[in-house]
Amino acid sequence: MDEYDVVIAGAGTAGLSLAYLIADRVDNILVIDKRPIDNIGDKICGDAIAEHHYIETNLPRPRGTSLRKKVEGIYLYGTSMEYKARIVSSYGGYVVDRHKYGQQLLNEALAKGVEVRGRSQAINFMLEDGYSVGVVYRDLDEDRVVKVRSKIVVDATGYTASLLMKAPESWMIEKNIEKRDIIPAYREVVEIRRPLWDVENLHLHFHSRYAPGGYVWLFPWSKDGRLINFGNGIVGGVSLPKPKYLLQLYSEEIMPELLSDRKIIKSGQWVIPNRRPRHVFVGNGFLAVGDSAIMIDPATAEGIGYGMYGAYLASKTIIEAIEAGDYSQEFLWKYQRNYMTSPYGLRQARLDVFRIMLQAHSSDDIEFVIRNGILREAEISKARDEDDVLSGVEKFMRAFKAIMKGGVKIIKNLNYTLKMMRRVKELYQRYPDSPAGIREWVLEEEALFREIKNRMGIHVPDYWRNVKLNR
Ligand SMILES: Cc1cc2nc3c(=O)[nH]c(=O)nc-3n(C[C@H](O)[C@H](O)[C@H](O)COP(=O)(O)OP(=O)(O)OC[C@H]3O[C@@H](n4cnc5c(N)ncnc54)[C@H](O)[C@@H]3O)c2cc1C
Repeated sequence: MDEYDVVIAGAGTAGLSLAYLIADRVDNILVIDKRPIDNIGDKICGDAIAEHHYIETNLPRPRGTSLRKKVEGIYLYGTSMEYKARIVSSYGGYVVDRHKYGQQLLNEALAKGVEVRGRSQAINFMLEDGYSVGVVYRDLDEDRVVKVRSKIVVDATGYTASLLMKAPESWMIEKNIEKRDIIPAYREVVEIRRPLWDVENLHLHFHSRYAPGGYVWLFPWSKDGRLINFGNGIVGGVSLPKPKYLLQLYSEEIMPELLSDRKIIKSGQWVIPNRRPRHVFVGNGFLAVGDSAIMIDPATAEGIGYGMYGAYLASKTIIEAIEAGDYSQEFLWKYQRNYMTSPYGLRQARLDVFRIMLQAHSSDDIEFVIRNGILREAEISKARDEDDVLSGVEKFMRAFKAIMKGGVKIIKNLNYTLKMMRRVKELYQRYPDSPAGIREWVLEEEALFREIKNRMGIHVPDYWRNVKLNR
């Protein structure tokens, strides 16, 4: 049986970033993916990555044909699109060709001596004395089961979390995720006759009809704006028409001149785990990274950079564990705690509250907030990192004006959201130092999010409620 130091299941952005980051210090690394090698990277995605993730992780940036377009920031629109707010980004970002970018990451890992096997589907751990000591996978070409031993097994299989779901109960890994915390999404890469109106920015259109509990996105996919990445995500766990149907409706009803005769180059649907991180994603000889561990910005569903940062933290702990010869959950907990209490983990947990608030409101409410300057552009950007975005007096004056115009519910919920974001941050800063304290922490965390969800339901337009649509 082959033996490795580290086996990584899943050659997505998180798995390949991790392989790249440990390759200089760890000798034998195997990455397996169920896709054929040539197909690695071809994931259904919005393809947008902020530059600051590369600054944090020092990973190589997209280059050559991987890079479709550099962008400056993000515009947010409410229902009518008459009013917009911009998320200011100091460093901008990239729209990539996800397939070519995946191949770039693959080649960078191969160049560092990482072994990669395609058409290899992870099916289980090899467990000995409560430790993962390797992976069982199916060789899809030869239709046979293969076993490989390794000191540490990594699940980077994305949303399906194929190995994590088989973890023994004693690791206390959180497996079940509420449907409401999952975003079903549909994406097209299309050629359009007229260019996108602004190719220097990403565009997120909040519209309850076409993306209930989510948004429609239009991202430039070429410098001239004639190619765009166009898609929508909707709240999960509610009976709604499929995102594909809703996106077609959007193209016909909202932007027929731009989109109705678009030429589809690629299309498909997939799901996004869109909430705070899993409470526990490490075990004895095991850790998860990326979507498998749920590393994402829940307000925008941006998961690539969060997974890269997770890989960056995981790489440090893996190198230390191999040097110490200690692969216990206790040792690997350092990675878990580092992520939960990092700026990424704290932001993810806080923005999960913000996401729940957004999903409780209609896009008319979101437009109301933008139109009345209740949260202004700089503040929306700042709100991502700081708890209190407005001074007391100014906040009171704006809230007063908004209430006079009829925005009582959204103002109350915004205030409640800011308060809860503070509480969640404080709770995540108290994430336990070892597995010993985790049960109490999880109880407290679940109670807090239950309270938040109970207070803020899910907004769905009446005409989509209980609609019997098989499309
Ligand atoms: C429609 C859509 C739009 C999105 N837009 C954006 C965006 O614009 N920006 C952004 O940052 N994020 C976006 N995301 C989220 C982002 O795509 C993910 O967060 C990110 O790809 C997660 O990376 P990953 O490496 O964890 O998982 P993945 O990229 O999903 O990679 C997992 C890999 O594991 C392989 N695999 C799965 N099961 C097995 C198995 N059992 N054995 C072996 N291999 C297996 C898969 O083939 C795949 O190669 C979007 C997601 C969707 C669905």
